[in-house]
Amino acid sequence: MKRVGTIALTLAAFLLAATATFAAEAKKVRWNMAMTWNSTLTPFVNAPERVAKLVSDMTGGNFVIKIEGAEKHKAALEILDMVKGGQYEMGHSASYYWKGKDATTAILTTVPFGMNVQEQNAWLYYGGGMQLMQKVYDKFGVYAFPGGNTGVQMGGWFKKEIKSVDDLKGLKMRIPGVAGEVFAKLGVNVTNIAPGELYTSLDRGVIDALEWVGPGMDIKMGFHKIAPYYYTGWHEPATDLQFLINKKAFDSLPPEYQAALKAAMQVAATDMHYENFAMSADAWAAMKTEFPNIKVMTFPEPVLAAMKKASDEVHNDYAAKDPLFKEVFDSQNTFMKKARQWTKISELYYLLESEKVVK
Ligand code: CA
Repeated sequence: MKRVGTIALTLAAFLLAATATFAAEAKKVRWNMAMTWNSTLTPFVNAPERVAKLVSDMTGGNFVIKIEGAEKHKAALEILDMVKGGQYEMGHSASYYWKGKDATTAILTTVPFGMNVQEQNAWLYYGGGMQLMQKVYDKFGVYAFPGGNTGVQMGGWFKKEIKSVDDLKGLKMRIPGVAGEVFAKLGVNVTNIAPGELYTSLDRGVIDALEWVGPGMDIKMGFHKIAPYYYTGWHEPATDLQFLINKKAFDSLPPEYQAALKAAMQVAATDMHYENFAMSADAWAAMKTEFPNIKVMTFPEPVLAAMKKASDEVHNDYAAKDPLFKEVFDSQNTFMKKARQWTKISELYYLLESEKVVK
């Protein structure tokens, strides 16, 4: 009797465990992800697409994420609200589009004259940046994760040469984030326009200058046909896109799906950075021969100095008003101050020294 009882108990335990395992394996999850971008905007859209594929592969097809571009949902700059409200479990966008709701979100994308991509990733993953980013996004009921970095962005396309700060006055320009406020201080009429409407706005004279990303993404947009002066960057030295996830949706996932999603986001973000770099290198090489009319320019030093001064004023104003902005900004600056010493002696000196002998 005793033996039979033991077998029965063992069998019951086995069945319970098997049922639990089966239930976990069979859990079907269907999510929707909205993007700020139209579905054709590579390489940005490759990050969410890679997340969806990896998550599906890692869960045997049980966790499926359907992606929707801005051409369908028509709300390119409302991703945060839609994810917060639960219409979409997930979004792919850029944090600085929410600057109007909370200024601190802007400096989580990039900072004018701030960290480069290596420094920023080191800060995010190993310098407390991710924790601070989540502290900012807690109030929105969403989780935020890095979503792919463009590296240094070009300073934008202008119809005329910028020879002095006076040349900026009265200019109508699309430029988002804190950089927009910097230009506004220098007399520019600043606007933000959804990515899908940039060329038309430039063509119709709604704007007469704009910044977008870098050669890999800019040249196929055709901006150079209207505004051939192409300036080097200062305003977005390491633009990080972001994944946003509705907290309730994420918290209700089985732990193994959460782990798969987090791993997939980090892989996809890293991969997008590599891909964008390769695209820009290709486009830059092709530009000289295919588009000889593009005039590559740098801003004169007095213009850069005015941008830096205005940039400090904008950041310091926000820091004085908002303790969390100050906490994030101070953390970034402290980290950059330390990291930049290493960047200089490693990357900068490597480039300067090797330039002497590598032709
Ligand atoms: Ca940009």
